[in-house]
Amino acid sequence: MNILVLNSGSSSIKYQLFRWPDERPACSGLVERIGSEQATITHKTFTPGASPAELRSTLPLPDHEAGLLEVVRLLTTGPEAVIQAPAEIDLVGHRVVHGGEAFTKATLIDEEVKAEIRRLFGLAPLHNPANYDGIEVAERVFPQVRQVAVFDTAFHQTLPEKAFRYALPTALYTEQRIRRYGFHGTSHQYVAAQAAAYLENPDARLITIHLGNGCSMAAVRGGQSLDTSMGFSPLAGLVMGTRSGDLDPSVLLHLLGPLGYSGAQVNNLLNKESGMLGLAGSNDMRDISAALAAGSPDAALAYDLYAYRIRQYIGAYAAVLNGLDAIIFTAGVGENDALVRSKVCQDMDFFGLALDETQNQQRQPGLRDLSAPGARARVLVVPTNEELEIARQCAELVE
Ligand code: AMP
Repeated sequence: MNILVLNSGSSSIKYQLFRWPDERPACSGLVERIGSEQATITHKTFTPGASPAELRSTLPLPDHEAGLLEVVRLLTTGPEAVIQAPAEIDLVGHRVVHGGEAFTKATLIDEEVKAEIRRLFGLAPLHNPANYDGIEVAERVFPQVRQVAVFDTAFHQTLPEKAFRYALPTALYTEQRIRRYGFHGTSHQYVAAQAAAYLENPDARLITIHLGNGCSMAAVRGGQSLDTSMGFSPLAGLVMGTRSGDLDPSVLLHLLGPLGYSGAQVNNLLNKESGMLGLAGSNDMRDISAALAAGSPDAALAYDLYAYRIRQYIGAYAAVLNGLDAIIFTAGVGENDALVRSKVCQDMDFFGLALDETQNQQRQPGLRDLSAPGARARVLVVPTNEELEIARQCAELVE
């Protein structure tokens, strides 16, 4: 079976083709700047035993349909072709950011599912419309192929009501659907499953820490999410690249009132100008790490604040789980930044966490156990693979 995974953004398409059941990626790529004369495609093909072949091109792509047709051309033509014809694709899996309360797992897409994704536009105005357009384009390009939606929120639908409700008047939940949804679910689910398998304990009490451009944590037990740090939107919780994370709501009122900000300005401030960018002038941890090495006090504070917020959530989630078997670092920062891991794990013996600093400094692919010998709880790095998790969920659905 061939499974094509698509992640459609407002001007981009990220894709990966998997051979099933051996879970092998045949190719992957990224189309960017769709809608411009200078759109770019980076396309990689993987042949077992050989290094990946990469193809880059710049071309005009007026819309997503043109972009996906170009992807099909790359998949089917030339010496690097991985299939002969679009009909050889058996399933298309779409990443959809918001599934509201309607979707608790991967779902075969039909008109009813599409209508529900449209109803959720209001809750995820930046993401769901682009994801939806990606579905419609794929339906036109692959008319015979079953399409599956995999939602970022679905994994967190197991949160108990006390964890997902806000202490606001009930009608705001029942009528306006204001509650915690949580995001990055596909990543939390994937790394939690990998960790539970490594620990040989399906009931392990895990705290998953996804640190990428966006950052979130989840308390997971028995494969179920019990709490998570993102909320009604992906703005809540941890300090992120450009997002503030948790904030006293009165700060917003102060900005909107006495300080004279507009709603759009506040939105922009909290989502695009805050987080590490606001504290230290860059949203990329590699820059902040270099600034720290050069003696920047802003970079030092930004690192401390970033790690401190994660530590606070570890404390909170150890209480939610009534114990702790492992914490799991994942995504760009979690997998690569040894200093963040080191700061998070410092003086955490109360929780049974102790980091082996030599292991922490080493770079190796795959799952890594960084725990010091004898530690009660493990510190793991598990590289996330949202595309593979989407493909797995698609395959499970039709098996
Ligand atoms: P992601 O959203 O998972 O792709 O993560 C992207 C972020 O990971 C970037 O903005 C960087 O801050 C961070 N990152 C990527 N590579 C490294 C690295 N080698 N060291 C530290 N941070 C990194």
